[in-house]
Amino acid sequence: MQSKDYHEILSYMYEGVYVVDKQRKIIFWNSGSEQITGYKQEEVLNRHCHDNILQHVTEDGTELCFGGCPLHHTLATGEVMEAEVFLHHKEGHRVPVTVKAIPVYDEEKNIVAAIEVFTDSRYKKTTYEENRKLKEMLTIDDLTGIANRRYLDFYLSNIRIENEEFDVPFGILFFDIDFFKKVNDTHGHIIGDEILKLVSKTVQASLRNDDKIGRWGGEEFIAVIKVDNNEELLRIAEKLKLLVSQSFYEMEDKSKLSVTVSIGGTLFEKGETIEELIARADANMYNSKDSGRNKVTIK
Ligand code: GH3
Ligand code: MG
Ligand code: MG
Repeated sequence: MQSKDYHEILSYMYEGVYVVDKQRKIIFWNSGSEQITGYKQEEVLNRHCHDNILQHVTEDGTELCFGGCPLHHTLATGEVMEAEVFLHHKEGHRVPVTVKAIPVYDEEKNIVAAIEVFTDSRYKKTTYEENRKLKEMLTIDDLTGIANRRYLDFYLSNIRIENEEFDVPFGILFFDIDFFKKVNDTHGHIIGDEILKLVSKTVQASLRNDDKIGRWGGEEFIAVIKVDNNEELLRIAEKLKLLVSQSFYEMEDKSKLSVTVSIGGTLFEKGETIEELIARADANMYNSKDSGRNKVTIK
């Protein structure tokens, strides 16, 4: 590749890229650098980066031009340097950037220049933060903070593939809060919401890391449990049922409000669909309701 082509690619990069020679004179300056610093190419070319231009400082105010300059170090040692610094913007303010200094060698392996690549750290942070929020919105139930139905669907279809390919056994527990309408009717929706949080937190905290709980909708939850037999699934379901019944929400008058859950559980059978699996667990849950609620049915 010709050096002209490099110049062309580098000039379109979002990142700031500039090149200095051995004396730290700026010999290349791309449009990313212009955007981040406010300095146009013609204002910086052939000047030294410490000539009142970038003047990198660290978080504690150390001016790197006079010691600790990443470019200086790279030119002297050939080491690639990375640092979080604040550079001077043409308008006077400071911009947080991540800089990386990379040496450039000639054919005789002498260092002849150094490239500094720098990115606006705020841009990186906001993208990261936006991605995190987006992911959360897509996978987490707003009210309870546990997985939402969308995520459960995704998780179940993945674990089904895992079962087909690697024989990883699993079962599910379908939970429904008993007489929840009465909680709302008696104490209001806000307290109802608190109970939903309480049940979610209790179940989530009692599951192993490998297992997953999510809100299926309303006052219904599904836990996906990595077990290979009904006895183990029953043992876990009984434990969760008990823990829910022993949790309580403390009302303003200090009285304690508790709920119970009816649970239906079943193991995944090879080849079946997730809908078939859930339908069986749901039918078992209704069996628990019919036999008096606060019960577990596994089959
Ligand atoms: P059962 O023991 O047969 O399950 O009776 P139930 O009262 O729990 O069942 P039903 O399906 O009649 O009522 C469910 C109630 O859950 C009705 C609905 O208002 C309430 N609910 C669903 N989602 C929410 C929510 O996000 N917050 C609150 N507070 N209530 C909710
Ligand atoms: Mg229900
Ligand atoms: Mg219910």
